[in-house]
Amino acid sequence: MKNRPDYGEKLLLITIDGPAGAGKTTVSKILAERLGYKYIDTGALYRGVAYEAQKAGVVSDDDIGLEKLCGTLDFEFVMDEKGLRLFSNGADITGEIRTPDISMLASAVSARPVVRECLFAIQKELGNEKGAVFEGRDMGTVVFPEAEVKFYLDASAKTRAERRHKEFAGKKGSPAAAEIERDIKLRDANDSNRSLAPLKPAEDAVIVDSTGLDIETVVNRMLSHVKKRVS
Ligand code: C5P
Repeated sequence: MKNRPDYGEKLLLITIDGPAGAGKTTVSKILAERLGYKYIDTGALYRGVAYEAQKAGVVSDDDIGLEKLCGTLDFEFVMDEKGLRLFSNGADITGEIRTPDISMLASAVSARPVVRECLFAIQKELGNEKGAVFEGRDMGTVVFPEAEVKFYLDASAKTRAERRHKEFAGKKGSPAAAEIERDIKLRDANDSNRSLAPLKPAEDAVIVDSTGLDIETVVNRMLSHVKKRVS
């Protein structure tokens, strides 16, 4: 733990929820770095399940197949100089889980109770040790309702699609902006309308709309809320 001269010795659990492309990953990483906290990307776990399901030929509404698959999962996060990496049964799948196909499949499997149950336990265990920033969709509402600081980071659908388009730029098979915006809207609808752990702000979440704001402004706004909780 380092870098937190202004934030006292009290270690907090911080949750950042919000829709795809709102800037959660960028902001969560910086926030964790400034506070000397660990950073956990729970979307990567849902993507990991989607990736393993696809590999095993298990379709997204096959609850029995998904349950069996969940029993075999062994995920591990490793933070190195390249960032946060996800290993599944010892194999680095960080790159493989970042495709448009896996994004849509992750959204589909994440609506299945059996998948949420299995990942709930993994996430709870990761949160046993405080001093962490958890990024996801239901961190503040379902997984860590007890978190000391909760944020809901939002942005307009157009801004979010533009950001994702920039992220993909130059990569092989990069989708067109219109396709990204369509996928984002579809995922938003899936994630917000599912009956289990739908995407929504926790009642006690601080809502930050990052449309038109730069990263530093968003991070500073969040840090000022964190400061209030430790002083
Ligand atoms: O955050 P990311 O876009 O990587 O998440 C991929 C998908 O995983 C989301 O669209 C959502 O369906 C699901 N997810 C979830 N709950 C979380 C994190 C992600 O349902 N806590």
